[in-house]
Amino acid sequence: MDNHEGCLYRNQLGFYMILRAKYVMPDSRTIIENGAVAIQGSRIVDVGLYPTIRKGGTPPIHDLDEATLTPGLVNAHTHLDLTSSANSVQRTPKFTDWVFQIVGKRTPSAIGPSVRQGVQQSLAGGATTVGDIDGTGGSAQILRDTPIRKVVFCEMLGFSGDSNYTGLARLATYLGTPPVSDSLLTPALSPHAPYSTSADIYRQCVASGLSICTHIAETKEELEFLSSGTGAFVGYLEAFGISTAGWHPPQTTPIQYMKTLGVLQKKSLLAHCNYLTDADVTILAESGASVVFCPRSHHYFYHTDHPIKQLVDRGISVAIGTDSLASNWSLSLLDELKFLARTQPCIRPETLFDMVTCNGAKALGLEQVGRLEKGWQADVIAVQIPNDSRPVIEQILDSSSENLLTVVGGKICYTSNRRNSSV
Ligand SMILES: [Zn+2]
Repeated sequence: MDNHEGCLYRNQLGFYMILRAKYVMPDSRTIIENGAVAIQGSRIVDVGLYPTIRKGGTPPIHDLDEATLTPGLVNAHTHLDLTSSANSVQRTPKFTDWVFQIVGKRTPSAIGPSVRQGVQQSLAGGATTVGDIDGTGGSAQILRDTPIRKVVFCEMLGFSGDSNYTGLARLATYLGTPPVSDSLLTPALSPHAPYSTSADIYRQCVASGLSICTHIAETKEELEFLSSGTGAFVGYLEAFGISTAGWHPPQTTPIQYMKTLGVLQKKSLLAHCNYLTDADVTILAESGASVVFCPRSHHYFYHTDHPIKQLVDRGISVAIGTDSLASNWSLSLLDELKFLARTQPCIRPETLFDMVTCNGAKALGLEQVGRLEKGWQADVIAVQIPNDSRPVIEQILDSSSENLLTVVGGKICYTSNRRNSSV
């Protein structure tokens, strides 16, 4: 049974659907040859050998032939509302110059097409879940109508004076009527960054009890600003009419500043963490917070080496994000994983795969996501691999691997042209 619409229809009625493939990889360390995943409604009801699962009934079967079924990938940090800005942003190593190019791009008329394009590109690239930063408050409603799983972090800004009051008022309004969660959407908050967001806003975001994502330790200029109150971010804020005159820099590192504000906790996702001291890493290891590394965005801004290996060695949970298309070459998390593998050869492939699956789910506070397991969410992808003599996990990281099929919550959301032409 390869009729896409037929499977979708039957599945919504509660019928079983079976995905069969040469390999099933329920997690980074387990391989089942000639395996299958049985799905009912939005959940996985069985994972195992195909002949065994097939005996359970005669449901519609999607045979993915020589592909490998894996958990859907989790893109823990992106900004889908910037997808359509990709072609109008010039690459520059100076972060504040890049930000000035972004300002004004997220107009109300641009957000809808941008977010929808971003979702389609994400699904095609193997992501079944995104942690999306909603920069305007307009993305959540658009995302609600899309089939991808998402944690939507509403961005909060406001540094001092009027901008701080405006930010606090916006936060109060949001907390008064937050977006309603549903089976695919979880509302959350993103106090933007320590150079743009006041201590009060950070504290109130933490007090909300929602998951939090903040951009932290991203640039050397941020370190200077928090250490001495000088540097590029002074001019950046003044360009927006925001004064730093009454602000007293904490004279600490960004991570230590976040600790004083109560931000370092299990429900926190720390985006970037490009520049850390040894003391910062120790604080992170004790906090239970997750770090999200954006490998190609990191490369885009010409940053020096990321301390990802050090974080892994200290047991810190690292997730992976694409960041936005305004600082990346695609929104494909499979592409991101391949780039990560090429540039971090000292980290085991299994550990890298965990970062784009179970670690991402943990970072976003999602339960029963990130593995193929009975009772868990039916978020599955089918990756075409070279089928050579290497371990399957290494073949998934091969430059030629390709996502053929994306299933979110038991619904087929993407089928590649290669797959369509073979049906
Ligand atoms: Zn970001």
